[in-house]
Amino acid sequence: NGRRDGTGLATPVAERIHGVRWRPHEPHPATGSPEAPTPRTGRQRVETVAAPGGPRLVLIGPPGAGKGTQARRLAAKLGIPHVDVGSLLRAEVRAGTPLGQEAERFLARGLLVPDELVNRLVERRLGALGPRRGFVVDGYPRSVAQAEALDRFLRREGLRLSAVLHLRVPDEVVVDRLAGRIVCPDCGAVFHRTANPPRAGERCPACHTIIREVAPGVLQCEACGRPLRRRPDDQPEIVRRRLAIYHQEVKPILSYYRQQGLLRDVDGEGSEDEVFRRILAALGLADGPSRRA
Ligand code: AMP
Repeated sequence: NGRRDGTGLATPVAERIHGVRWRPHEPHPATGSPEAPTPRTGRQRVETVAAPGGPRLVLIGPPGAGKGTQARRLAAKLGIPHVDVGSLLRAEVRAGTPLGQEAERFLARGLLVPDELVNRLVERRLGALGPRRGFVVDGYPRSVAQAEALDRFLRREGLRLSAVLHLRVPDEVVVDRLAGRIVCPDCGAVFHRTANPPRAGERCPACHTIIREVAPGVLQCEACGRPLRRRPDDQPEIVRRRLAIYHQEVKPILSYYRQQGLLRDVDGEGSEDEVFRRILAALGLADGPSRRA
């Protein structure tokens, strides 16, 4: 009993567009049309939030661009899961799975994990979300081969990406940010030694449990039970290697998505709130709806 959209799959009977519940075949409150608003090429890109189950988004940017933080905020705002591929890989390593054992030697040296391993991991995670579910992926794709694998996977499900957000941050800002970065290795929470230090008694922004000081100077989220710390691959020489890899890898990926008309460039400098507002604007959501699942 849902609308067919040419994919052969039924869409939910009502979608939230411009923050208003809308039923197909009734005039849309914003457009007056009985059809879903059609994609537009200007600043307003209604289709990105109107995708059934939520938009399917990719966030691209250098390490330290704030992808994780922004992806989490976007996920909360739109009610879609945040798929953080770096954290998924680290979880496999910690769990000692065969995939984790293979990935570990690349992770430890700041090198990209082979496409075949990462594609398998991402497909498993996205496949588990259920049919037609929106998502925001961060840390993937990191090669054109990965971008193509993601497209193939989505096509098999009758889907495509809604938009690709490209966070632009200069290298010197990245090195500065990462030098002071502190993370929770379990839930992926990100802090900064001076700009945003973790504090005992406050809630972790990622897992929402209380942060405790378990030994002098040692903080951890209550639920995660592992100390907040610097990531081994945030050391300056490894950051430089990661940035070099990033610049090499990102160019063809950006062209790939630009050709598909999916790319949205976003200035990633400035405060977290400023960047988040720019991301919403790039999605045509400047005054947009909250969409909690
Ligand atoms: P991140 O948490 O995104 O900074 O990723 C940390 C490390 O995980 C990287 O240095 C790579 O070794 C690995 N990694 C994360 N995402 C990918 C990916 N899409 N493809 C290959 N390796 C990845």
